[in-house]
Amino acid sequence: MKTLEEIHQLFSRFQATNPEPTTELNYQTPFELLVAVILSAQATDKGVNKATALLFPVANTPQALLNLGEKGLKEYTKTINLYNNKTRNILKTCQILLDQYQGSIPNNRKELEALPGVGRKTANVILNTVFKEPIIAVDTHIFRVSNRLGLAPGKTPREVEDTLVQVIPDEFKYHAHHWLLLHGRYICTARNPHCQECIVKDLCDDYKDKYFK
Ligand code: SF4
Repeated sequence: MKTLEEIHQLFSRFQATNPEPTTELNYQTPFELLVAVILSAQATDKGVNKATALLFPVANTPQALLNLGEKGLKEYTKTINLYNNKTRNILKTCQILLDQYQGSIPNNRKELEALPGVGRKTANVILNTVFKEPIIAVDTHIFRVSNRLGLAPGKTPREVEDTLVQVIPDEFKYHAHHWLLLHGRYICTARNPHCQECIVKDLCDDYKDKYFK
């Protein structure tokens, strides 16, 4: 386990390098972000951005997506992994948003997770990015980075999430999700991590194991 001092060091460096980190999914409204995050499961942000760059200028509200219908929406989503299910879930979610929330996005976990296609991770991204809650959505990158660093070792995303919430000081919690995610995407990559360029290598358990044992 890391000491408080080490954790402080770690996030201070991320903060100094990137004071205002944010999602790489392109969006203008909370609804657009919700659609993009649903589409992004097991797909790349780049691929999702390509699809939504064509979709959102044509339809970017629950009613407009419903007007496209399943066949029409699939024309935009068909390049994305698992698009059949995702398209159906998005349309079901649109209907619920219209029926129960006047077309807006609910601001709490219980109601978000009740939407088709929205699991804990998606709900966490919305709560963090839209509603500015200090919440950490553990995706594959954050899971890997947290384990390698020894910041929040765990066997499941939920275990890692619970530890991260406990150990990250409040002042860093709001941005922690994006710092860890971007670090995993660009530096601490799944294969061949760029350890020599890593700004926190002296604080990393994996690095110490690899080079100093
Ligand atoms: S030192 Fe290497 S393994 Fe450790 S966090 Fe940095 S990139 Fe990842």
